[in-house]
Amino acid sequence: MLGCSQSFVRMLEKMEEFDPEKVIEEFEAITRDAGKVQRETLKKILEENGSAEYLQSLGLNGRTDPESFKTCVPLVTHKELEPYIHRIADGDPSPILTGKPITTISLSSGTTQGKPKFVPFNDELMESTMQIYRTSFAFRNREFPIGNGKGLQFIYSSKQFQTKGGLAAGTATTNVYRNSQFKETMKAIQSQSCCPDEVIFGPDFHQSLYCHLLCGLIFRDEVQFVFSTFAHSILHAFRTFEQVWEELCTDIREGVLSNRVSAPSIRAAMSKLLKPNPELADLVYKKITGLSNWYRLIPELFPNAKYIYGIMTGSMEPYLRKLRHYAGELPLLSADYGSSEGWIGANVNPKLPPESATFAVLPNIGFFEFIPLKHNIEDQDQNQMDPSFFQIEHEPVDLTEVKIGEDYEIIVTNFAGLYRYKLGDVVKVMGFHNSTPELKFVCRRNLLLTINIDKNTEKDLQLAVEEASKLLGEEKLEVVDYSSHVDSSTDPGHYVIFWEISGEAGEEVLKECCNCLDRSFIDAGYVSSRKVNAIGALELRVVRRGTFQKILDHYLGLGSALSQFKTPRCVGPTNNLVLQILCGNVVESYFSTAF
Ligand code: AMP
Repeated sequence: MLGCSQSFVRMLEKMEEFDPEKVIEEFEAITRDAGKVQRETLKKILEENGSAEYLQSLGLNGRTDPESFKTCVPLVTHKELEPYIHRIADGDPSPILTGKPITTISLSSGTTQGKPKFVPFNDELMESTMQIYRTSFAFRNREFPIGNGKGLQFIYSSKQFQTKGGLAAGTATTNVYRNSQFKETMKAIQSQSCCPDEVIFGPDFHQSLYCHLLCGLIFRDEVQFVFSTFAHSILHAFRTFEQVWEELCTDIREGVLSNRVSAPSIRAAMSKLLKPNPELADLVYKKITGLSNWYRLIPELFPNAKYIYGIMTGSMEPYLRKLRHYAGELPLLSADYGSSEGWIGANVNPKLPPESATFAVLPNIGFFEFIPLKHNIEDQDQNQMDPSFFQIEHEPVDLTEVKIGEDYEIIVTNFAGLYRYKLGDVVKVMGFHNSTPELKFVCRRNLLLTINIDKNTEKDLQLAVEEASKLLGEEKLEVVDYSSHVDSSTDPGHYVIFWEISGEAGEEVLKECCNCLDRSFIDAGYVSSRKVNAIGALELRVVRRGTFQKILDHYLGLGSALSQFKTPRCVGPTNNLVLQILCGNVVESYFSTAF
């Protein structure tokens, strides 16, 4: 079995002799009897970490079977583990959550709470990350083979700092990029970045992004694919390209880097690549001026690119339309499913469009349990719908006990000190690959919009925004980004939806959009409350261009990395600063007259 306890020496050997068919064979082997692999994995986790104070205190007494584990160890959220993690971060060297001491901390993007959370990171998590990368690459490359070129990878390191106890801390992606295994694996899977490390690890992401674009153009014939962790940052990169392309052409023509890049490390690295190349500058200029509204920008710039790759599911889905516009006929391939807390599944069906992408759980990277949730709203008789949608908890079931078509909250036990940890994600089982489930990401579990008996999730919000924004399409406008908020300062409270729009929309169309948003929340609790005015009229607030960029900058200032950024889809009262940014940039607002 391809296990997490294998030594790094063995792992390095494996990467050097990377053979995609072998990787697929290994994946087939571990998924054939996923139940057995799960039991073995749990045993290994508990054996390696049995001496940890947390496990000791729960009375497992050396038992490693799933039944004892579930009886002794409670389900937890980050909040319950926080005191333990903080002791680790503060420098307590005793075995607290893991047998071997934790030396690195990851910062999760903290989109929901408004501030990043600390989670433990270790060699085993690094190894499972590489296993996921290798697995999905092997399947991807079978369908969409790439040559021996380079990847235009919009990847960025966040600021790294030391915790009070001297542990290195940074976003999970940063911890991965800084690890020597990362480069080795990228080389093995033909996915080396076309830009120097100094760009990835530069001190300012605006400068790094500019140089990523510049390197992409310099190596345009070699670029085999375009990547970022999340689709948002790919879109952000090409939106920026629209603003800076002439400056990029000037740099290429003259062989001199724009003085917008001031970091000496980046300037030194770029000066080795940048030589005056008027032919290339003319070519890029010709390509861009021949485009209509930036359609097919990516294949025009990178004629040998085979696909665009990144996480495109969940909160990234709203960006697909615009990404397809830039991509033209180039396929969009959705990347794997995981979190700072650890990886879960690989996309082994790369041909599926992002809207139907699934993730096959790797049964040897953690022990997974699933809390069954009530069915989707659409499946229910609206009148009898239980208002506590997603609130009814059942006993968790094991990986191989999940049922096709059902929704679950996922619980993770990993090799880095998390035991029965509620990740907060809702997934749907779409099928099985051998005996391991293929999951579709549904949404974050925490309800977004709720005032009384109404319950609307991030997915409901997405569908409402999609529906209403179709009205803007008639005016050739689009919603650049959006968020929401419950305004309880009015009586009754009401939903507020914030929209940033690509241009000026007329008053009439915006009124229609506002009514359409209100009508598109079809949750029975919402509709009945609206009818009796127990919830006030929905408000659409249009914000200034660049408002969501300010939100992004705010998160980056908190230590988040661009490549891990997810727009907060609902801004709660605890997220005051983001709310201030949104409210301070409102240019017009409309109240629904739909009810
Ligand atoms: P982070 O807090 O930055 O580690 O982000 C982890 C979260 O991102 C997960 O818990 C999911 O909510 C989301 N996420 C990660 N991978 C995917 C994916 N493939 N599809 C949708 N959402 C994802």
